[in-house]
Amino acid sequence: MGFATDAIHAGQEPDPTTGAIMTPIYATSTYVLPELGKNKGFDYARTVNPTRTALEANLAALEGAEAGTCFASGMAGISAVMALLRSGDHIIVSRNVYGGTYRLFEHVLKQFGLTFSYVETSRLEEIESALQPATRMIFIETPTNPVMSLTDIAAVADICHRESRICVVDNTFMSPYFQKPFQFGADIVVHSTTKYLNGHSDSIGGAVLTRSPEHTERIRFVQKSAGAILSPFDAWLVLRGVKTLHLRMECHERNARKVAAFLDAHPKVKRVMYPGLESHPQHELARRQCTGFGGMISFLLKNYEEAKKFLDRVKLCALAESLGGVETLICHPASMTHASVPAAEREKIGIAEGLVRISVGVEDLDDICADLEAGFSAL
Ligand SMILES: *Cc1c(COP(=O)(O)O)cnc(C)c1O
Repeated sequence: MGFATDAIHAGQEPDPTTGAIMTPIYATSTYVLPELGKNKGFDYARTVNPTRTALEANLAALEGAEAGTCFASGMAGISAVMALLRSGDHIIVSRNVYGGTYRLFEHVLKQFGLTFSYVETSRLEEIESALQPATRMIFIETPTNPVMSLTDIAAVADICHRESRICVVDNTFMSPYFQKPFQFGADIVVHSTTKYLNGHSDSIGGAVLTRSPEHTERIRFVQKSAGAILSPFDAWLVLRGVKTLHLRMECHERNARKVAAFLDAHPKVKRVMYPGLESHPQHELARRQCTGFGGMISFLLKNYEEAKKFLDRVKLCALAESLGGVETLICHPASMTHASVPAAEREKIGIAEGLVRISVGVEDLDDICADLEAGFSAL
């Protein structure tokens, strides 16, 4: 089936009891056995819930995975992936990885004997020189948040597979509509469903997509053992959100391309970071690896004071963390999403004090641009 058909139907059958076309929210903790020693495939709802199962199958279809496993948040999903490792293992990570991922690795997992190297994964030679005998995983985000640098997934998967290293891609920014990491050899894909997959800023959730039976089995085992499961209500919200993923992504991108061009031409903007611009250093890679450029843009103003004036003036563009919802969100990475990254590290990555990030929504383009223009008039 095509992407749109899968987005709407995969994993979902009319409810066997009533024929309800929408998968019900199975609000239950347990299931009654027909007789001792038999069950209908359901025993306890931490292990399995039909609403969650429908979403897991749906996301697996969209990413081309063997299985999907859903969690209470993107971070819970990433935590489950890290449980594939053992004390002493070394992990190479994209330098400007999501702030929460950095915090989990540095401030939670390091104390269990995992070691991490943060490198500019867009430069393969940096990955090569960070490799150690103990390197068991390369964890990349592409494009990275918020400076929008891209990593060549196929090249990283090749480096991983020279030894039995696991190639993990956080695909939150592009969604499977624009980027399918398994086609380039990735082993595991993770998502914060909080963002584009749900798309309506009303749920927190995560998903891990796997393509080997060994990884699927282990991730499922961690899901039921650690127990950070997605609730049936949230699973239902994401299932509902995904039905319009293709429509939303098209519109996010259509708007984002125009907003990027608008910003690029604006005299008060020093630089625009958007993979769809020909000036983006990895525009060619974006064309090769993605089927669209997405809805996320970062741009540089002179300094913190200018960024503050701008952000305090815009109104339709809501000043908030997060991304991927139908509404336009705008934020200041240095003091918001990336505040937990030390200042010196932020400087190295390019998260300057004047950097502003926009998650372009699906409102009328003219209204978004008028609001941004109002922001510039404050400078
Ligand atoms: C938001 C986000 C996460 C974390 O997801 P939560 O649902 O907030 O736990 C991980 N990676 C990326 C790229 C994100 O944007």
